[in-house]
Amino acid sequence: MSPRVSQVEAVVLRMHDELAVHERFMREALHEARLAVQTADVPVGAVVVVEGRIVGRGRNQREALADPTAHAEVVALRAAAQQLGTWRLTEATLYVTLEPCIMCVGAAVLSRIRCLVFACHDPKNGACGSQFDIVGARRLNHTFPVIAGVCQEEASALLSTFFRRLRQKEAAKR
Ligand SMILES: [Zn+2]
Repeated sequence: MSPRVSQVEAVVLRMHDELAVHERFMREALHEARLAVQTADVPVGAVVVVEGRIVGRGRNQREALADPTAHAEVVALRAAAQQLGTWRLTEATLYVTLEPCIMCVGAAVLSRIRCLVFACHDPKNGACGSQFDIVGARRLNHTFPVIAGVCQEEASALLSTFFRRLRQKEAAKR
């Protein structure tokens, strides 16, 4: 192999490294998502990362806490803010296994995060292009890049298994 790496190769290598980092943290978010199933919550998980360190974790806990706002992203952002002692999460990347809803994109904007990475799209409620494109709306005074599709097969398999089992349980009751 030539010791000289072309500029294009260098860019490809860097993208490859970045993707590996995103996948590593998305696996942590997927771990959180799996824990949500224990409380009959839809498996969605999130982590907040600052300088390569997880500073907040969250999973969907709507059922567990009987709280309509206890989405994984909100739980993780709150944990991160508490950990860092500030609501301004300007160095933070939010990883979440499902495209955020309008509330969660709103929470991410208010937290002034640096970047959002999500796994699979949510055609029903997604607010990063599926139903709405909140971050793309130029009226906001804070915006950030959005990276979609990291570990999307794993995340969507987790959701479809959950909903299939739920339907089976409901069918068995009838
Ligand atoms: Zn949400």
